[in-house]
Amino acid sequence: MAEVREFEFQIYNSMTKQKEKFKPIVPGKVSMYVCGVTSYDFSHIGHARAYIAFDVLFRYLKHLGYEVKYVRNFTDVDDKIIKRANEIGEDPLVLSSRFCQEFLTDMADLQCLTPDEQPRVSDHMNQIRDMIQKIIDNNCAYVVDGDVYFSVDNFPNYGRLSGRKLEDNRAGERIAVDSRKRNPADFALWKAAKPGEISWDSPWGPGRPGWHIECSAMSVTYLTETFDIHGGGMDLIFPHHENEIAQSCAACPNSNINYWMHNGFVTANDEKMSKSIGNFFTIREVTKLYHPLALRHFLMGTHYRSPVNYSIAQIEISSEAVYYIYQTLEDCGSAISQFQEEIKTSVKKFVITDDVKNCIKNLRSHFEEKLSDDLHTPTILNAALQDALRLMNKILSMLKKKLQKPQKLSNTESLIQLEKEVRDVLDVLGLLSSLTYNEVLKQLKGKALIRAELTEEDVLQRIEDRALARKNKDFKLGDQIRSDLTSKGIALMDVGSETIWRPCVPVEPAISSDGHLPGQPDTSDSQQPSLSRRYTTRVIAEEPGVELGSIGTGTRLGPKNEANGFKITWIGFELLEFVYIVAMTVSWIQNG
Ligand SMILES: [Zn+2]
Repeated sequence: MAEVREFEFQIYNSMTKQKEKFKPIVPGKVSMYVCGVTSYDFSHIGHARAYIAFDVLFRYLKHLGYEVKYVRNFTDVDDKIIKRANEIGEDPLVLSSRFCQEFLTDMADLQCLTPDEQPRVSDHMNQIRDMIQKIIDNNCAYVVDGDVYFSVDNFPNYGRLSGRKLEDNRAGERIAVDSRKRNPADFALWKAAKPGEISWDSPWGPGRPGWHIECSAMSVTYLTETFDIHGGGMDLIFPHHENEIAQSCAACPNSNINYWMHNGFVTANDEKMSKSIGNFFTIREVTKLYHPLALRHFLMGTHYRSPVNYSIAQIEISSEAVYYIYQTLEDCGSAISQFQEEIKTSVKKFVITDDVKNCIKNLRSHFEEKLSDDLHTPTILNAALQDALRLMNKILSMLKKKLQKPQKLSNTESLIQLEKEVRDVLDVLGLLSSLTYNEVLKQLKGKALIRAELTEEDVLQRIEDRALARKNKDFKLGDQIRSDLTSKGIALMDVGSETIWRPCVPVEPAISSDGHLPGQPDTSDSQQPSLSRRYTTRVIAEEPGVELGSIGTGTRLGPKNEANGFKITWIGFELLEFVYIVAMTVSWIQNG
């Protein structure tokens, strides 16, 4: 067993409604169960948010030295799956299996680690039937015409997670409330098969499980009746998790889960994303235009319990931030490679400066302090990590100057140590790709071209056109070409005599003639958010009820790239800062 670091890791427990020191049941080991998706369609960014949040938890627990068993289920038997399968004439299990696979592809793209177990309902009918039988035997469920209902009246603790009273229970939402129920709040454990519907045999007749029972049965199968952490979206607190507790305790009175964790919603225009409102984006739709790491960065830029307002502006900023991280690491890698052999073979120890030592120390302590505070990812992304990246760029810049060999080697040693520390942090945050830095940069550029609806050749042609215009002293045309590209998210940079390009946050005129903020949705279609590059207000979402100081995502817009030792002019940078400040101000006013 790996040694677990003695660290005060605080988790907000939805059951006790407070932060608590995390203490696992078995020292050194953690068992966690997270409710998975109902696989009948592509997953949306609300799902991405939930599974990234619990992936950070999974990674951090491992980082602390725990041996973690992570179980996340697939609901592959459900009303919605059957309905969709009937609509398109496909076998429901084939359809759900297909979307389980699509979900796994999304999770891999978003760098969510694979859970240890990913059980599916259709593979666990025996465990589900056994548990229902136990609940009936313990007098907490009854059979009516092939259906089995949980009897909430026979379970006195019902409502302890959600704090709801029985009369509030709208368990009937998923099935029509019928008079055969003893209490309208009773919910189905087993549903008798309708003609032509997929079904499994049971002592109560052919049918299929109700929604909630699967998680009780599968968690006990893989983690026993007592385990450490149960997670899911806030919308699952009631009725799903409330009913899970009732079922598990009714089947086994010793059943206990110590920490309940729930992530907040993703909203669009401050409304919860939902298909019925049409403010709904799949992960695929977003990752077609933005790198999955940008989406991950964006979602981690808000504390996991706060709502995240989906905003193109924020994803643009996250995309920029990810580019900055990888460009810094790439430059760092090139610089290190020049002297690595010399450092390795040298008998002399190279001293690193106090600046570097402090930066590393701060990054490490800040990182653990913030993640241990109920997984506070936003402050890590914005503060200590940025300080380290900035220092790396400063050193890279110094390395380009004429230095004595020992100074060069000391600076390189500093970069080696900083890079290692930054990689460790990125790894725990799930932002470290298995690809090379350069490959990630290429992917980010590829997405920027897709968003700009340009090819690389188009951009190179415009660079050439601009050079020609400047040669002919037509600076107006030259500037126009550059600003046209900048408005499409392509920044041109003059490096020495050469012009190169990189993605940037698209810059529109600071204040348009009609007085709108750049990219603010026109009132004509503000009800219809789209994936086009339309800016919405920057929303500052922070941990509920906690300090509002350290906020948002990558505020380090457009860092000047000094790594190559050339002064790089980045037109639009100041403009961008201005845009950002205006958007922030508006947002602060709107959010009180
Ligand atoms: Zn569940």
